[in-house]
Amino acid sequence: MPYRLKRSTTLHKVYYDLHIHTALSPCADDDMTPNDIVGMALLNGLDLIAITDHNSMQNAEAVITAARDKNIIVIPGMEISTAEDVHVLCLFCSVEKAEDFEKELKPLRSKVENRKDIFGNQIIYDEKDEVVGEATNLLVAPTKISFDALQRMTAKYGAAFIPAHIDRESFSVLSNLGFLPPDMEINTLEVSKNGAEKGFVVKNADKYTKNQIIHSSDAHRLWEISERINYIMLPEFSIDAAIDFLR
Ligand SMILES: [Zn+2]
Ligand SMILES: [Zn+2]
Repeated sequence: MPYRLKRSTTLHKVYYDLHIHTALSPCADDDMTPNDIVGMALLNGLDLIAITDHNSMQNAEAVITAARDKNIIVIPGMEISTAEDVHVLCLFCSVEKAEDFEKELKPLRSKVENRKDIFGNQIIYDEKDEVVGEATNLLVAPTKISFDALQRMTAKYGAAFIPAHIDRESFSVLSNLGFLPPDMEINTLEVSKNGAEKGFVVKNADKYTKNQIIHSSDAHRLWEISERINYIMLPEFSIDAAIDFLR
């Protein structure tokens, strides 16, 4: 069970990194293991992290279990590549919800086999960092689900839908669709660390008045996990409160 504070009316400052890849993502280091990720996040003073591998959540539960009894909350999530190859973070209230979502996503995923020599390993770990399997289909390939259909599917599971690194010139909603669809209600957007440092938010302040902006690391290596810099204010220190704030 996640660590919880007693419900109160005061807001809690919660330091987060909501975009972390494990070794399941072929582009991530093999030592992005459950215990090393939790250890680094704690060392950096984070309260809340999300596991967001490409199109799969198969390592999320192991990270959650590795974080049990530690003062950190782990959100199970995925970074989905839509049919337009836009990256979207989908964050869930529970492992069960994320698993059910992945079952629905499975027939829409690419059937292309992973070429380890080109793309890298896709390792599945248990909570003790033991290798228990590997994903054989190439997880970074775009799925067959469109950006707007993904939002509807995410809503069905009560999850947060967060277009990822919108400032980047590839794999982002702005680069691949050209704009944020005005008819879609999107509460939260992610701007990359690099984009934030280059003043993307300030330069575009008039465009995203209805959205809240978050910054996460998109860590593929342990040392890339965020320091205690970015925070959100939550009424309660729980997964439900975090998802409620983000969706
Ligand atoms: Zn991405
Ligand atoms: Zn990513």
